Amino acid sequence: MSDVQRFDILVVGGGMTGAAAALGLCQQGWRVGLVEAATLEETLRPLEPAATVDDFEPRVSALSLASQALLHALGVWSDVTAERHCPYADMTVWDADGTGRIHFEAPAMGVSSLGTIVENRILVRALMAAVSDAALDLFAGVSVSDWTEEAAGSHCIQLEDGRRLEADLVVAADGPQSRVRQWAGLPTREWDYDQQGIVCTVETVQPHQATAWQRFSPTGPLAFLPLANEAGSRHFCSIVWSQDTAEARRLMALDDAAFTAELEAAIERQLGAVKAVSRRFAFPLRQRHAKDYVKPGLALIGDAAHTIHPLAGQGVNLGYGDVRVLLEEMARLRDSGLPAGEPSTLARYQRRRKGENLAMMAAMEGFKQLFARDELPLRWIRNAGMRWLDGQGGIKNRLAAQAMGIEAV
Ligand SMILES: Cc1cc2nc3c(=O)[nH]c(=O)nc-3n(C[C@H](O)[C@H](O)[C@H](O)COP(=O)(O)OP(=O)(O)OC[C@H]3O[C@@H](n4cnc5c(N)ncnc54)[C@H](O)[C@@H]3O)c2cc1C
Repeated sequence: MSDVQRFDILVVGGGMTGAAAALGLCQQGWRVGLVEAATLEETLRPLEPAATVDDFEPRVSALSLASQALLHALGVWSDVTAERHCPYADMTVWDADGTGRIHFEAPAMGVSSLGTIVENRILVRALMAAVSDAALDLFAGVSVSDWTEEAAGSHCIQLEDGRRLEADLVVAADGPQSRVRQWAGLPTREWDYDQQGIVCTVETVQPHQATAWQRFSPTGPLAFLPLANEAGSRHFCSIVWSQDTAEARRLMALDDAAFTAELEAAIERQLGAVKAVSRRFAFPLRQRHAKDYVKPGLALIGDAAHTIHPLAGQGVNLGYGDVRVLLEEMARLRDSGLPAGEPSTLARYQRRRKGENLAMMAAMEGFKQLFARDELPLRWIRNAGMRWLDGQGGIKNRLAAQAMGIEAV
């Protein structure tokens, strides 16, 4: 049909992973289209300086060094760091039910920071600004409303405004509820944690010391993630408080004063009093993993392929791992002169990513189970184990380096 636009690759979803993938694929010389439901105006809206808790976006990402290296290679890391961001050099993890405590320090691992906390909208804004300057076709402010498989692995995407796009390869980066994954009939294994993640921004009396704080309790972990300080002597953190659903509902129903009092107690006043709290949001937590990430002419990346518990802040880092490997495989394919969507390329992408993602998901699940139990012998082992590990500099730092993507840099 004459009104169909043709591409080598169509990326559906211009969030943190989709925008990065589209940019990298375009830089390799593929003819790329990117479809994103949000308008460009909305995404590129300038940020106001953050003077109060309500000026920050409640959803943030703890970007590992490997994710930062990818963004650097794409040419957007300097744009991210030109905005609000907070590198953290320390991480402290402890057990609410005992004396176990682990402390990770960047210098001991030979790096200047363990990661950087960035508000999600700052990351997407930097990526989409680069996308809008790149030689690719951006379809912003419009959703994909249907997907059909044409002959010989080619795919047709229908936009809600009636336009039709065709490509040899569709990269689905349309998030955890991925419609493309569902249309393609790619099944998932999933289970509900029966927990919700409460996220908001808080102001504390004491500075966060560029440290990520995480306390585990039997009903779930609480993280205080350090935020950039643009307001002189004021101190802000983003919190992710994962709790069993009934407990999360109770916390969400509290007024600010009562919520703040419980939050201060839960973090054991590590940063003194909590002076202010922003509007709170609660997300149901669900582990989800696609049984296959690929089929002819289609690849899933990011949350479209997997979602994990936010307890170690690894969600987007796994997604950036997918983007890095997909870009490596597509660069090899480009050199070979074969069309996008080549089955052996997609198979290699899936093989390289599935094992790593599954290992991280299993580790998160193990962690969650370990801290959910409050039988005395288990509590003792857990606390003794944490104290032991904290004293084993070499082993501790190697484990942390792996989890934080430091070895991959
Ligand atoms: C409570 C909570 C806390 C978290 N904390 C962290 C953390 O600290 N660190 C971390 O790394 N991760 C964290 N995560 C996970 C992280 O938010 C996700 O891993 C990340 O957002 C995935 O990015 P993505 O680009 O794959 O998907 P998304 O961010 O979901 O982006 C999908 C994009 O696709 C677009 N889209 C969807 N459908 C269509 C369509 N039909 N047509 C066109 N466009 C479409 C959407 O508009 C969106 O822009 C957390 C998650 C939760 C729930």
